[in-house]
Amino acid sequence: MNAWRRRIGRRLRNPAAVGVASGGPASPMHTPKGKIIARRLAIAFVAATMGMSCIAATDASANCKFKAKKDIIVIVDVGHSDKDSGQISSRGMKEYDLNLKLAQRVLEELVNSGFVSTQMIVISGPNTHASRLQRSKRANDLAADLFISLHHDGVKNETLIPWQHDGKTRWFLDKFEGFSLWVSQKNNRYEESLSFAKTLADRLMAGGLKFTTHHDELTNTDKYGRIAPLVDRERGIYDASDHIAVLYESHMPAVLVEAGMIVNRAEEQVLSSATGRATVARAVATAVERFCAVRTPQTR
Ligand SMILES: [Zn+2]
Repeated sequence: MNAWRRRIGRRLRNPAAVGVASGGPASPMHTPKGKIIARRLAIAFVAATMGMSCIAATDASANCKFKAKKDIIVIVDVGHSDKDSGQISSRGMKEYDLNLKLAQRVLEELVNSGFVSTQMIVISGPNTHASRLQRSKRANDLAADLFISLHHDGVKNETLIPWQHDGKTRWFLDKFEGFSLWVSQKNNRYEESLSFAKTLADRLMAGGLKFTTHHDELTNTDKYGRIAPLVDRERGIYDASDHIAVLYESHMPAVLVEAGMIVNRAEEQVLSSATGRATVARAVATAVERFCAVRTPQTR
């Protein structure tokens, strides 16, 4: 399917551009039917007459449990950008390139699972705080139901060890491996964010993956990287509090996924393989399926 590869660039006020690839017919005004439309229109009308942003209208319908699968808007956010590519792997790959490949695979899996309204956010230019806010704004404007930001993890440069690979000096640290999931108590759908993170962690572990505890503030220092409260010690879920803008600025449940440690030489090979990406993609799609499982028919 080529539709999901299509990228719709949109120039913003800052130098960055947010591109969105859609799983189905790209439809920013995608809305559910029946009572939800009536309620949303009513709220939007009130917001418009009061001179407010219509973003407030998104909250009432953000619960994916009450939507048809095809109408559920999952945001797959590609971490970092072409100009600000994040971590460098132990073999010299850019985190952004790995994030993009993983996001494309996750998008494909979600669309094939019936989540045809899935949207992928790709940013171009500097990865600034302002550009991160634009990611959340895009998701809020789309009235998205779930925000998933995809990243790969590393450590601070000063803790890396040199080695030779393909005739070049590269940098690694094999000490840690595994995924970590990040939520923010500042997100106004924190409980749902945590619920989705738990479901996703369970699916990742069912796929044979482990989580890393090296971010745990109780047992580690910040020598290797960010430390944070480990809010679920059985699942590798951390509270980012106000450190990750896309988590607290998004108005829907939001989770940041560090898929694994790309400075770990063995784990990098798994994460950069088609098999490794498929494992994560299947876990995400199954987790979304379970998180959004319809419990109550909303329209008749
Ligand atoms: Zn990252």
